[in-house]
Amino acid sequence: MTVPTITLNDNTSIPQLGFGVFQIPPEDTERLVSEALEAGYRHIDTAAIYRNEEGVGRAIAASGIPRDELYVTTKLWNRRHDDPEVALAESLERLGLDNVDLYLIHWPCPRQNRYVEAWRGLIGLREQGLTTSIGVSNFLPEHLDRLEMQTPVTPAVNQVELHPAFQPWKDIDAARVHGIRVQAWSPLGMGRNGLLDAPEVVDVAAAHGVSPAQAIIRWHLQNGVILFPKSAHPERIRENIDVFGFELTPDEMAAITSLDEGEAGRVGPHPNEFEPAPAGS
Ligand code: NAD
Repeated sequence: MTVPTITLNDNTSIPQLGFGVFQIPPEDTERLVSEALEAGYRHIDTAAIYRNEEGVGRAIAASGIPRDELYVTTKLWNRRHDDPEVALAESLERLGLDNVDLYLIHWPCPRQNRYVEAWRGLIGLREQGLTTSIGVSNFLPEHLDRLEMQTPVTPAVNQVELHPAFQPWKDIDAARVHGIRVQAWSPLGMGRNGLLDAPEVVDVAAAHGVSPAQAIIRWHLQNGVILFPKSAHPERIRENIDVFGFELTPDEMAAITSLDEGEAGRVGPHPNEFEPAPAGS
């Protein structure tokens, strides 16, 4: 299985398709990440808040795959914007790694207003070689503008909610102008809101003899997006990477694009609304 790579603005490359582990229970993570590595995935997307970095690390260690053939992303949680150095050290300890390939600020939390300071911290972590690349997640254009104006480094990626029912292309294109690549989170819309049963998706899938999930993954790939769909089922994990033997036509791409519902299509929180819970809650 050869997954294409994408070159980021820091001249590193990232496999365009990976395996995401949000909501994979810690006790299942080693087994499912091992399944993913066995199926050919070489890019794993985790986060401190997923509480499953240990399982990711154990699967990597058990796989025997050379470290330089793997791409590992983790993320700085919202309460740790003031100490990314300690937070990354803790993540590396849990992962059993000396460094990650990509470290992201998970959410901007604009009311907390510490993300510019956190970004300066990530710049330092990259200089120390503890992460090869640095980026952000859930940043809106106004948050990216502040990093652009107040710091010397542009994020390599912005990881945002993106799937056929929610397509914030205006924001994505504004970031692309600065060379920031988009990563889609919940690329299958978490399997919610009937997206995988939408006639437009089902018809495209049937035309190629593939599943609706495979058709949507292909739509993202052909849009140049980096993605890491999640599944807790080995057969679906294998299915989701078996997407390089067919190509959607421009009409099929347009049919899936037509499913955009704007704000109503979101499955996650608005980036300006998501803040750390008050202490003690
Ligand atoms: P997803 O869009 O990948 O959907 C996963 C769900 O889709 C599964 O639970 C299952 O119900 C369904 N599914 C998957 N494969 C299928 C198949 N082949 N056939 C039928 N149904 C299938 O949702 P996600 O896990 O939220 O997003 C993917 C990854 O994105 C996460 O694991 C995580 O790594 C990342 N993420 C990041 C953020 C962020 O704030 N940065 C937020 C959410 C997710």
